[in-house]
Amino acid sequence: MLAASNRLAGAIAFGLALTLGAGLGAVARGDHVVVHRVGASAPAPTPSATPKPTPTADRSGTVSQQRVRHIAEREGFAFLRPPGRNGEVSRWDPCVPIHYVVDVEIGPPTAAADIAWAIAQVSKATGMRFVDDGTTAEQPDDRRKDVRHTKSGWRWAPVLIALVPDSVFHGKGLHADKDSLAYTDPAIYSDEAGDAEIVTAQVVVDADDITDGGHEDPGALGPTLLHEFGHLAGLDHVHRSGEIMQPDGGGVVSYGPGDLAGLHYVGRAHGCVADAALPTDSDDFPR
Ligand SMILES: [Zn+2]
Repeated sequence: MLAASNRLAGAIAFGLALTLGAGLGAVARGDHVVVHRVGASAPAPTPSATPKPTPTADRSGTVSQQRVRHIAEREGFAFLRPPGRNGEVSRWDPCVPIHYVVDVEIGPPTAAADIAWAIAQVSKATGMRFVDDGTTAEQPDDRRKDVRHTKSGWRWAPVLIALVPDSVFHGKGLHADKDSLAYTDPAIYSDEAGDAEIVTAQVVVDADDITDGGHEDPGALGPTLLHEFGHLAGLDHVHRSGEIMQPDGGGVVSYGPGDLAGLHYVGRAHGCVADAALPTDSDDFPR
Protein backbone atom coordinates (compact mmCIF):
# COMPACT_ATOMS: atom_id res chain seq x y z
CA MET A 1 0.00 0.00 0.00
CA LEU A 2 2.80 2.34 0.87
CA ALA A 3 4.53 1.83 -2.44
CA ALA A 4 1.31 2.33 -4.32
CA SER A 5 0.52 5.49 -2.36
CA ASN A 6 3.94 6.91 -2.98
CA ARG A 7 3.74 6.18 -6.65
CA LEU A 8 0.42 7.93 -6.86
CA ALA A 9 1.67 10.72 -4.70
CA GLY A 10 4.19 12.06 -7.11
CA ALA A 11 1.45 12.83 -9.55
CA ILE A 12 -0.76 14.20 -6.80
CA ALA A 13 1.81 16.67 -5.57
CA PHE A 14 2.30 17.84 -9.08
CA GLY A 15 -1.43 18.12 -9.72
CA LEU A 16 -2.13 19.98 -6.51
CA ALA A 17 0.76 22.31 -6.99
CA LEU A 18 -0.60 23.20 -10.38
CA THR A 19 -4.22 23.59 -9.49
CA LEU A 20 -4.32 24.62 -5.86
CA GLY A 21 -0.98 26.13 -5.09
CA ALA A 22 1.75 25.06 -2.73
CA GLY A 23 2.80 26.36 0.65
CA LEU A 24 0.01 24.85 2.64
CA GLY A 25 2.21 23.54 5.39
CA ALA A 26 3.51 20.12 6.17
CA VAL A 27 0.86 17.51 6.49
CA ALA A 28 1.26 14.22 8.23
CA ARG A 29 -1.17 11.48 7.54
CA GLY A 30 -3.24 10.70 10.59
CA ASP A 31 -4.36 7.25 11.56
CA HIS A 32 -7.65 6.05 10.29
CA VAL A 33 -10.31 6.03 12.95
CA VAL A 34 -12.84 3.30 12.45
CA VAL A 35 -16.03 3.49 14.41
CA HIS A 36 -18.64 0.79 14.39
CA ARG A 37 -22.27 0.59 15.13
CA VAL A 38 -22.94 -2.74 16.75
CA GLY A 39 -26.12 -4.67 16.19
CA ALA A 40 -28.93 -4.33 18.71
CA SER A 41 -28.53 -7.98 19.63
CA ALA A 42 -24.84 -7.69 20.29
CA PRO A 43 -23.87 -8.64 23.85
CA ALA A 44 -21.71 -5.63 24.50
CA PRO A 45 -20.30 -2.66 22.67
CA THR A 46 -17.14 -3.52 20.82
CA PRO A 47 -14.27 -1.32 21.87
CA SER A 48 -13.42 1.00 19.04
CA ALA A 49 -9.95 1.94 17.97
CA THR A 50 -10.56 5.53 18.97
CA PRO A 51 -9.39 7.13 22.17
CA LYS A 52 -12.17 7.33 24.72
CA PRO A 53 -13.50 10.71 25.79
CA THR A 54 -11.56 11.99 28.72
CA PRO A 55 -13.51 11.79 31.96
CA THR A 56 -14.27 14.93 33.94
CA ALA A 57 -11.83 13.95 36.62
CA ASP A 58 -8.94 14.24 34.19
CA ARG A 59 -7.62 17.77 34.53
CA SER A 60 -4.54 17.20 32.43
CA GLY A 61 -3.87 19.13 29.27
CA THR A 62 -4.11 22.77 28.45
CA VAL A 63 -6.91 25.06 29.54
CA SER A 64 -8.27 24.97 26.00
CA GLN A 65 -8.31 21.19 25.99
CA GLN A 66 -10.03 21.05 29.35
CA ARG A 67 -12.58 23.60 28.24
CA VAL A 68 -13.50 21.69 25.09
CA ARG A 69 -13.69 18.40 26.97
CA HIS A 70 -15.98 20.03 29.47
CA ILE A 71 -18.30 21.33 26.77
CA ALA A 72 -18.58 17.91 25.15
CA GLU A 73 -19.21 16.14 28.41
CA ARG A 74 -21.76 18.69 29.57
CA GLU A 75 -23.63 18.65 26.26
CA GLY A 76 -23.51 14.88 25.82
CA PHE A 77 -21.29 14.17 22.86
CA ALA A 78 -17.76 13.00 22.13
CA PHE A 79 -15.21 13.84 19.47
CA LEU A 80 -13.52 11.27 17.26
CA ARG A 81 -10.22 12.37 18.74
CA PRO A 82 -9.40 14.28 21.90
CA PRO A 83 -9.01 18.02 21.34
CA GLY A 84 -5.53 19.30 20.53
CA ARG A 85 -3.54 21.72 22.64
CA ASN A 86 -5.46 24.70 21.36
CA GLY A 87 -8.78 22.95 21.77
CA GLU A 88 -9.11 22.16 18.09
CA VAL A 89 -10.89 18.97 17.10
CA SER A 90 -10.87 16.74 14.04
CA ARG A 91 -13.55 17.93 11.66
CA TRP A 92 -14.23 18.77 8.05
CA ASP A 93 -13.76 22.19 6.59
CA PRO A 94 -17.45 23.03 6.93
CA CYS A 95 -17.16 25.86 4.42
CA VAL A 96 -16.70 23.69 1.36
CA PRO A 97 -19.18 21.14 0.01
CA ILE A 98 -18.67 17.51 0.91
CA HIS A 99 -19.09 15.27 -2.11
CA TYR A 100 -20.37 11.73 -1.77
CA VAL A 101 -21.14 8.77 -3.98
CA VAL A 102 -23.42 5.87 -3.17
CA ASP A 103 -23.29 2.18 -3.91
CA VAL A 104 -26.77 0.89 -3.12
CA GLU A 105 -27.17 -1.78 -5.75
CA ILE A 106 -28.03 -4.47 -3.23
CA GLY A 107 -29.78 -2.26 -0.70
CA PRO A 108 -33.52 -1.95 -0.10
CA PRO A 109 -35.54 -0.04 -2.71
CA THR A 110 -35.64 2.92 -0.35
CA ALA A 111 -31.86 3.03 0.09
CA ALA A 112 -31.17 6.13 -1.99
CA ALA A 113 -34.05 7.98 -0.33
CA ASP A 114 -32.88 6.84 3.12
CA ILE A 115 -29.41 8.20 2.43
CA ALA A 116 -30.83 11.52 1.25
CA TRP A 117 -33.06 11.66 4.36
CA ALA A 118 -30.11 11.12 6.70
CA ILE A 119 -27.80 13.46 4.77
CA ALA A 120 -30.41 16.21 5.02
CA GLN A 121 -30.47 15.87 8.79
CA VAL A 122 -26.73 15.93 9.29
CA SER A 123 -26.53 18.84 6.88
CA LYS A 124 -29.12 20.77 8.84
CA ALA A 125 -27.44 20.01 12.16
CA THR A 126 -23.94 20.95 11.00
CA GLY A 127 -24.70 23.68 8.49
CA MET A 128 -22.49 21.81 6.06
CA ARG A 129 -23.41 21.24 2.45
CA PHE A 130 -23.33 17.77 0.97
CA VAL A 131 -23.31 17.14 -2.76
CA ASP A 132 -24.62 13.89 -4.20
CA ASP A 133 -22.24 12.88 -6.98
CA GLY A 134 -24.44 9.94 -7.90
CA THR A 135 -24.13 6.20 -7.87
CA THR A 136 -20.93 4.23 -8.13
CA ALA A 137 -19.98 0.61 -8.54
CA GLU A 138 -16.96 1.21 -6.30
CA GLN A 139 -16.62 -1.27 -3.48
CA PRO A 140 -15.37 -0.21 -0.05
CA ASP A 141 -11.79 -1.14 0.59
CA ASP A 142 -9.50 -0.51 3.54
CA ARG A 143 -6.82 0.43 1.02
CA ARG A 144 -9.02 2.97 -0.71
CA LYS A 145 -6.99 5.92 -1.89
CA ASP A 146 -7.86 9.23 -0.31
CA VAL A 147 -7.33 11.25 -3.46
CA ARG A 148 -8.70 11.06 -6.98
CA HIS A 149 -7.75 12.53 -10.26
CA THR A 150 -10.69 14.35 -11.80
CA LYS A 151 -11.21 16.58 -14.80
CA SER A 152 -10.46 19.47 -12.45
CA GLY A 153 -7.24 17.93 -11.20
CA TRP A 154 -6.48 16.01 -8.02
CA ARG A 155 -9.13 16.10 -5.36
CA TRP A 156 -9.93 14.30 -2.15
CA ALA A 157 -11.95 11.19 -2.92
CA PRO A 158 -15.67 11.62 -2.41
CA VAL A 159 -17.20 10.00 0.65
CA LEU A 160 -18.24 6.48 -0.31
CA ILE A 161 -21.53 5.30 1.17
CA ALA A 162 -21.87 1.61 0.37
CA LEU A 163 -24.25 -1.19 1.21
CA VAL A 164 -22.59 -4.57 0.90
CA PRO A 165 -23.65 -8.19 1.48
CA ASP A 166 -22.87 -9.78 4.81
CA SER A 167 -20.19 -11.94 3.18
CA VAL A 168 -18.36 -8.84 1.97
CA PHE A 169 -18.95 -6.85 5.16
CA HIS A 170 -17.33 -9.54 7.26
CA GLY A 171 -14.89 -10.62 4.58
CA LYS A 172 -11.24 -9.87 4.21
CA GLY A 173 -10.18 -6.35 3.51
CA LEU A 174 -12.79 -4.44 5.52
CA HIS A 175 -12.61 -3.06 9.03
CA ALA A 176 -15.92 -4.50 10.22
CA ASP A 177 -16.06 -5.97 13.72
CA LYS A 178 -17.80 -9.28 14.21
CA ASP A 179 -20.85 -7.79 15.91
CA SER A 180 -21.17 -4.61 13.95
CA LEU A 181 -23.72 -3.85 11.27
CA ALA A 182 -22.14 -0.67 9.95
CA TYR A 183 -18.97 1.32 10.30
CA THR A 184 -17.46 4.60 9.27
CA ASP A 185 -13.81 5.02 8.36
CA PRO A 186 -12.89 8.68 8.07
CA ALA A 187 -9.50 9.72 6.72
CA ILE A 188 -8.00 12.37 8.97
CA TYR A 189 -4.93 14.36 8.06
CA SER A 190 -2.97 16.32 10.63
CA ASP A 191 -0.51 19.13 10.29
CA GLU A 192 2.48 19.78 12.50
CA ALA A 193 0.50 22.08 14.77
CA GLY A 194 -1.88 19.25 15.56
CA ASP A 195 -4.79 20.60 13.56
CA ALA A 196 -6.62 17.71 12.01
CA GLU A 197 -9.06 17.66 9.17
CA ILE A 198 -11.39 14.96 7.96
CA VAL A 199 -11.01 14.84 4.21
CA THR A 200 -12.89 11.77 3.04
CA ALA A 201 -14.50 8.64 4.47
CA GLN A 202 -16.14 5.32 3.79
CA VAL A 203 -19.50 4.53 5.35
CA VAL A 204 -20.22 0.84 5.01
CA VAL A 205 -23.45 -0.92 5.94
CA ASP A 206 -24.16 -4.64 6.12
CA ALA A 207 -27.23 -4.74 3.88
CA ASP A 208 -28.19 -8.21 5.14
CA ASP A 209 -28.22 -7.07 8.77
CA ILE A 210 -30.42 -3.99 8.60
CA THR A 211 -34.15 -4.23 9.14
CA ASP A 212 -36.84 -2.74 6.95
CA GLY A 213 -39.13 -0.93 9.36
CA GLY A 214 -38.63 2.54 7.98
CA HIS A 215 -37.37 5.59 9.79
CA GLU A 216 -39.10 4.66 13.05
CA ASP A 217 -37.16 1.39 13.23
CA PRO A 218 -33.79 1.81 14.99
CA GLY A 219 -32.33 -1.10 13.02
CA ALA A 220 -33.39 0.20 9.62
CA LEU A 221 -31.11 1.94 7.19
CA GLY A 222 -32.22 5.52 7.92
CA PRO A 223 -31.47 5.59 11.66
CA THR A 224 -28.36 3.46 11.09
CA LEU A 225 -27.09 6.13 8.73
CA LEU A 226 -27.89 8.92 11.17
CA HIS A 227 -25.50 7.23 13.59
CA GLU A 228 -22.83 6.65 10.95
CA PHE A 229 -23.10 10.18 9.64
CA GLY A 230 -22.49 11.37 13.19
CA HIS A 231 -19.13 9.60 12.94
CA LEU A 232 -18.67 10.98 9.45
CA ALA A 233 -19.05 14.51 10.79
CA GLY A 234 -16.54 13.92 13.59
CA LEU A 235 -18.37 12.42 16.57
CA ASP A 236 -17.57 9.34 18.60
CA HIS A 237 -19.78 7.21 20.82
CA VAL A 238 -21.36 8.39 24.03
CA HIS A 239 -23.03 6.42 26.76
CA ARG A 240 -26.01 8.61 27.37
CA SER A 241 -29.67 7.72 27.04
CA GLY A 242 -31.54 9.36 24.20
CA GLU A 243 -28.53 9.88 21.96
CA ILE A 244 -28.18 8.02 18.69
CA MET A 245 -24.40 8.12 19.11
CA GLN A 246 -24.59 5.39 21.73
CA PRO A 247 -22.52 2.44 20.48
CA ASP A 248 -25.60 0.47 19.46
CA GLY A 249 -27.69 3.51 18.63
CA GLY A 250 -29.60 3.11 21.88
CA GLY A 251 -32.86 2.30 20.12
CA VAL A 252 -33.01 5.95 19.07
CA VAL A 253 -34.31 6.97 15.63
CA SER A 254 -33.35 10.65 15.52
CA TYR A 255 -30.55 12.86 16.74
CA GLY A 256 -30.80 13.57 20.45
CA PRO A 257 -29.83 16.83 22.16
CA GLY A 258 -26.22 15.79 22.69
CA ASP A 259 -25.93 14.52 19.13
CA LEU A 260 -27.21 17.83 17.83
CA ALA A 261 -24.89 19.81 20.09
CA GLY A 262 -21.95 17.78 18.81
CA LEU A 263 -22.93 18.16 15.18
CA HIS A 264 -23.32 21.87 15.73
CA TYR A 265 -19.89 22.03 17.36
CA VAL A 266 -18.06 20.36 14.47
CA GLY A 267 -20.08 22.26 11.89
CA ARG A 268 -20.21 25.63 10.31
CA ALA A 269 -20.85 27.50 13.56
CA HIS A 270 -17.20 27.06 14.53
CA GLY A 271 -15.88 28.52 11.33
CA CYS A 272 -13.84 27.27 8.44
CA VAL A 273 -10.72 25.18 8.78
CA ALA A 274 -8.02 27.65 7.89
CA ASP A 275 -5.45 25.51 6.15
CA ALA A 276 -6.85 22.75 4.03
CA ALA A 277 -4.81 19.65 4.68
CA LEU A 278 -3.62 19.08 1.17
CA PRO A 279 -0.97 16.40 0.88
CA THR A 280 1.46 18.42 -1.18
CA ASP A 281 4.54 17.87 0.93
CA SER A 282 3.76 15.08 3.35
CA ASP A 283 5.74 11.90 3.72
CA ASP A 284 2.81 10.04 2.24
CA PHE A 285 2.76 12.22 -0.82
CA PRO A 286 6.34 13.20 -1.60
CA ARG A 287 7.19 15.44 -4.47
ZN1 LIG B 1 -20.80 3.93 16.00
